[in-house]
Amino acid sequence: MAARSTNGGARWLWLLASGLGLCSSVVVAMQVTATQAMVTQATPATTSATTSATTSAITFAMRAPQAIRAVVLLVVLTDPRPGAAGFPPALINSIEAELQRVYQVEVRRIDAHALPRSAFYAPRRRYRADALLEFLGEQIPAGAPSRTRVLGLTTADISTSKDGFKDWGIFGLGELDGTAAVVSSHRLRRKAKDAAQVTWRVTNTAVHELGHVLGLEHCEEKDCVMLDAQGGISNTDASTGEPGPMCRVKLDRASPLRPPV
Ligand SMILES: [Zn+2]
Ligand SMILES: [Zn+2]
Repeated sequence: MAARSTNGGARWLWLLASGLGLCSSVVVAMQVTATQAMVTQATPATTSATTSATTSAITFAMRAPQAIRAVVLLVVLTDPRPGAAGFPPALINSIEAELQRVYQVEVRRIDAHALPRSAFYAPRRRYRADALLEFLGEQIPAGAPSRTRVLGLTTADISTSKDGFKDWGIFGLGELDGTAAVVSSHRLRRKAKDAAQVTWRVTNTAVHELGHVLGLEHCEEKDCVMLDAQGGISNTDASTGEPGPMCRVKLDRASPLRPPV
């Protein structure tokens, strides 16, 4: 998996995963549960005022806007070639849930697009990831919130230039501290034990590539989702699927949680 630097494209990073993080929605749920327990224990003599105040607290907790790091548009890039498989809906669901859980982003799905002809690399019959990132960036509608990012998902093979190789097949590509990322399931399906492992790999790769977009570079933390894939699948398979403690600190700095716009 690669990260594209936005400062001129001279720097290319390769990678892949550990961490923690309590989803803010879980925190809200815990607050409501605790407050409801207080209501249950209120004595009859104080029921009216206490219940009223506590009910307000519950209402506030449930309506308080949940802080997010970004809005992420999810778009499937369909392979227009005859016989090409579609991107499995269950896989999209897994990616959406994990991006929300790991990064506290708001995920919005937009209509699928066919892979753009302009990104097709005829000599290898696959698609150039750099061109796809440009295309994806153009899919963000005018007037979208300023912190809007876009993640493309495709079953087609994708590639980029790396370490002197003009066209190197990759799992995904994300703009470092940028706007767009793309993930391909094509190589992640290879030698997978079962469908569950494919789901794990593709979901981890989506978390990784969006990590780049949110400002995370490759790291050296054991099992961190931002470890470099190093051209193989082992780091992806061993990943915890989450940023490690050091990457969490960087994430909070690069893409802090803020109320939604
Ligand atoms: Zn990477
Ligand atoms: Zn890390």
